[in-house]
Amino acid sequence: MQHEEIFSTYTNKEIKGRHITNESIEPILNKLNDDFKVKIEGKSVLEKPIYSVQFGHGKTKIYMWSQMHGDEATCTKAIIDFFELVSNHKEYSNFIQSKYTLYIVPLANPDGAEVHTRENINKVDLNRDVQESTQPESKILKQIFENFQPHYCLNMHDQRTIYGVGDTDKSAIISFLAPAYNVERDINEYRSKAMYIIGKINNVLQTYIPGHVGRYNDAYCDNCFGDYFASKNAVTILFEAGHHPNDYMRDITRKYIFISLLVAFDKIHENVLVDDNNSEYFKIPDNKVSFFDILYKNVKIIENGNEKIINFASQYKEVVKDGKILFEPYLVTIENDGQKYFGHIEYDLKEELFSSNYCSVPVNDVKSDFLIGKNKEFIDGILKQ
Ligand SMILES: [Zn+2]
Repeated sequence: MQHEEIFSTYTNKEIKGRHITNESIEPILNKLNDDFKVKIEGKSVLEKPIYSVQFGHGKTKIYMWSQMHGDEATCTKAIIDFFELVSNHKEYSNFIQSKYTLYIVPLANPDGAEVHTRENINKVDLNRDVQESTQPESKILKQIFENFQPHYCLNMHDQRTIYGVGDTDKSAIISFLAPAYNVERDINEYRSKAMYIIGKINNVLQTYIPGHVGRYNDAYCDNCFGDYFASKNAVTILFEAGHHPNDYMRDITRKYIFISLLVAFDKIHENVLVDDNNSEYFKIPDNKVSFFDILYKNVKIIENGNEKIINFASQYKEVVKDGKILFEPYLVTIENDGQKYFGHIEYDLKEELFSSNYCSVPVNDVKSDFLIGKNKEFIDGILKQ
């Protein structure tokens, strides 16, 4: 079967959208068969259980964790799809179980997930807390690493809609990083292996989403989990699920994370000795902050009595109401810094005049309701037809 067919056959239909909490995954974890060992590793600040799932008995040990940032659930969904696959596809399940011992924390920050924040409930970014591990969630993630002593670490996140691939007009649907293990960003055998695997994943993704894969900045961060585990000689790969056009729920990006996992599991067990295997990795363009959710181009404003033509944008803020995520657009001004910016939606407004009940010219953090010219009415950032 091809990757996309495998995905469509084994997608878990019980879980979708952006707001994934313990309540979303618990019924699924409860139904897993005896091949899986589900365990409560400990509790979050608000005493919610943090689960781990162990699978397989092979010699290569892989540690994976998702949603240490509470509002980053795309990889969690892909992990659940992977559970669906190995629960139902005997041959593939045997392959995984014989080659690998997987230790998976599908949702590392349940309190943040509940209120849809990056940080935990104490407003601590867990991914800047590995050294001291001041938070119970960080302690659990670090403790598992120390007890399990994995060969590989898959550090799974979401990135915001603002990222594009290099200077192109393509959004970064997925980005990867082989994190640095020291300030010098040297490449040792372990980092080189991570680069090799990422290069192979990228080759496959290019056939599905050409030009939409980016490479994350590798500045060394000694308080980040991925860099820290890399410094302990685990082959570490950062996954960043990003924005596919029109897929704010990220149920399309989910598919490409799932496919990335399949490719990783295909490649890791080959245990290639790496010589010059970094070149494919370095061919992946850098992630660049180049996108807005909605871009308005060529708009006339009158500032201090002078007419000016500007671009401005709307960016969504994600808020939870009644258990659902709402995307609320707010205005964003754009500095004319010579960089080219793109919008996931773009309007060319042909030098017509901006007006709004909230402000005389676009200013940051004001609701995206305004008028362009005499009759182009934008409500929630979108032109009313
Ligand atoms: Zn993250």
